[in-house]
Amino acid sequence: MPQWDFLNFIADRGRRFRTFDLRMRAEATGLIEEQGQIVGVRAKTPEGDIEIRADLTVGCDGRHSTVRERAGLESDDYGAPMDVMWFRLSRKPSDSEETFGHIEGGRMMVMLNRNDYWQCAYVIPKGTADEIKCGGLDEFRQSVGQLAPLTQDRLDEIENWDKVKLLTVAVDRLRRWYRPGLLCIGDAAHAMSPIGGVGINLAVQDAVAAANILVQPLLSGTVTLATLQAVQKRREFPTRVTQRVQILMQNNIIGPALQGKRPKAPFFMKLLAVAVAAAHSGTRDRTRRAAGTHSHASGTGKQAGRLGFHPGRSDPGGLEAHFIKGLAHKAGRLCVLDKFAHVRQGSRLAFRHADRGRRIEKSIVENAGAGDLASQPG
Ligand SMILES: Cc1cc2nc3c(=O)[nH]c(=O)nc-3n(C[C@H](O)[C@H](O)[C@H](O)COP(=O)(O)OP(=O)(O)OC[C@H]3O[C@@H](n4cnc5c(N)ncnc54)[C@H](O)[C@@H]3O)c2cc1C
Repeated sequence: MPQWDFLNFIADRGRRFRTFDLRMRAEATGLIEEQGQIVGVRAKTPEGDIEIRADLTVGCDGRHSTVRERAGLESDDYGAPMDVMWFRLSRKPSDSEETFGHIEGGRMMVMLNRNDYWQCAYVIPKGTADEIKCGGLDEFRQSVGQLAPLTQDRLDEIENWDKVKLLTVAVDRLRRWYRPGLLCIGDAAHAMSPIGGVGINLAVQDAVAAANILVQPLLSGTVTLATLQAVQKRREFPTRVTQRVQILMQNNIIGPALQGKRPKAPFFMKLLAVAVAAAHSGTRDRTRRAAGTHSHASGTGKQAGRLGFHPGRSDPGGLEAHFIKGLAHKAGRLCVLDKFAHVRQGSRLAFRHADRGRRIEKSIVENAGAGDLASQPG
């Protein structure tokens, strides 16, 4: 279910409960604190300022969280080498259905199929949005058209800079996710990079874990610091692991690619990929397939469903399928997903995501160079 429908779905289900109260267009501006305990929020609404009192306030207001900031919770910032310029272009029936991604000359473009439009992400080195805007809209459109030739006949839909939203990427994590009367979850507790497309999964998992742990203490009015600590304890490990993988990807793949350098997969990631495949495939055969020791071409120029490194295809002039699969974070477990295709042509790196409606989240590309895990015995 797409995110926008999911939010409406949740709101709709919530309305079945007599005590559910959803206030749209209400912006939390501050916390109400009494004797060291958070007892609610102050909010700005179209009807004026209001106060909402609560036994427990949950900050889930995203990576620029006001709640976390007003609570004075300390965070560790891990940095991100990129920001994203986010815009839509129409999608025609004749267009491919596949997610598109392309990296070239320090620029990167990803297009996500949203049925009637393409959600486009033009990935830029951190802090360079103003520089790109100074270059002018024509130059920007031209660059988009070069990276994604499919868009060339509709670039005038980017009428002005208002159509292009800057999404700043952050990776950070609170040291403590709570204070008396307050809990932060989702990006408010740990801002996720878009890499791997798992931030929403983690946020939903935080919410589910928090609900399961909190329901009884809330009903009996016994929410203590230990209860809130239990939520952090339950969710911190998967968050740490996922952020660590994202940071490795950022520093070794996205960052160098945006500087026009050859991305390099850290040894850890190659190892992780094989370990994950082994842990979740269950059979030796499936592990070998996941590690790229089997070959299944699925159409011209495509290599699908594989992870790993193919020494036989290491000719830099030819097609190389050096690919690390998308890692999806599902139910607290990492699993390796199928159906990605990746084509390397000279200095140009292109990948295509051959998702056919399965439970695939996103792809992560690795340009593996001389890696040769496939030469290891199966
Ligand atoms: C460019 C980019 C692309 C991404 N792409 C993906 C992807 O494809 N898949 C994926 O899984 N993750 C992706 N992520 C990560 C993902 O967006 C987040 O991890 C996820 O949305 C976190 O969910 P959340 O509910 O904690 O916060 P959010 O989704 O950010 O929701 C926070 C909500 O709080 C509201 N809010 C903010 N401030 C206030 C306030 N003061 N008062 C009241 N309400 C407030 C906001 O309007 C918003 O509705 C991406 C991140 C970036 C930066």
